[in-house]
Amino acid sequence: MSASPPHCITTRDLNLWYGKFQALINVNLAIQDGLIAAVGPTAEIVPANPDARFLDAQGRIIMPGLINTHTHLYSAFARGMALKDDAPGNFMQILERLWWRLDKALTLDDVYWSAMAGMVECIRNGVTTVFDHHSSPHAVRVSLFRIAEAARQTGLRACLCYEVSDRDGAEIATQGIEENRAFLETCIRRPESLIRGLFGLHASFTLGDATLAQCREAAADLGAGFHVHTAEALSDVDHCLREHNIGVVERWRQRGILGPHTLAAHCVHVSEREIGGDGAEREHGGFSECHMNSPRLEMRLPAEGCVRSQSLKTNLLAGRAWRGRSAHRRAA
Ligand SMILES: [Zn+2]
Repeated sequence: MSASPPHCITTRDLNLWYGKFQALINVNLAIQDGLIAAVGPTAEIVPANPDARFLDAQGRIIMPGLINTHTHLYSAFARGMALKDDAPGNFMQILERLWWRLDKALTLDDVYWSAMAGMVECIRNGVTTVFDHHSSPHAVRVSLFRIAEAARQTGLRACLCYEVSDRDGAEIATQGIEENRAFLETCIRRPESLIRGLFGLHASFTLGDATLAQCREAAADLGAGFHVHTAEALSDVDHCLREHNIGVVERWRQRGILGPHTLAAHCVHVSEREIGGDGAEREHGGFSECHMNSPRLEMRLPAEGCVRSQSLKTNLLAGRAWRGRSAHRRAA
């Protein structure tokens, strides 16, 4: 099969310095088969690729795509949605009055179109990779496959998971485990360069130890890491201390959830000690290897418990979570 004709993209931004990086002017990229084949002056690159489709990016910046390390694509149509009750005043009220009502109303078609709308918005804003954390308790089975369908159609790079939770009962928790398992098995059996999976967990305060153990076992069979909300609100931390007599990070460590392929979302109320900022990595074995996304104000509440951004710097990259063993073990 012959190689596809190259594309050439030219940017003509001003010659500016951004910190130590210089924006190159009148630079041309030749792209072939999804890879940058050459970079150089337009006067050289364009004549060397006479069959190329030429795109003029004048006034725009050519840069690597942005990565959204934690999103809920199913919420794409919730923006501006009127609520039946008074405006929520705390974390649990936001969940009970908005998100846990919305997710239970979703059909598989809603899941697909929400994913499509969210992905199109990502692309329009320069995001080319998303780590999605999905929930649709009354439409669990094949929901991840419908989101993957939208990802293929948009061309977005997507790492998907279903958030297992006990909040809607044992039957739906089991369906969540099976959906993660089915999707991860498909990622192993039919690997795709742009589609990956992690094993989804909702949060400590909606997961009992029995369900957590089932998830741990299923994920271990598949060599998968986890994508899990971690200490997003103080109420999550308080619940964990009350029910398990340990903090959320310690619970994840003891239950075998942490590791180099796990993505811990939010981490608003974790301490320097828990993330290894005071040299406690060994004692807390595992968490410093995980990937934390920044404590985004998803719930629009003050993040007064945020750890210092300095501590997060080494934990922001989601690369190893993306490359998760589940999708590579047999593809390699
Ligand atoms: Zn979230």
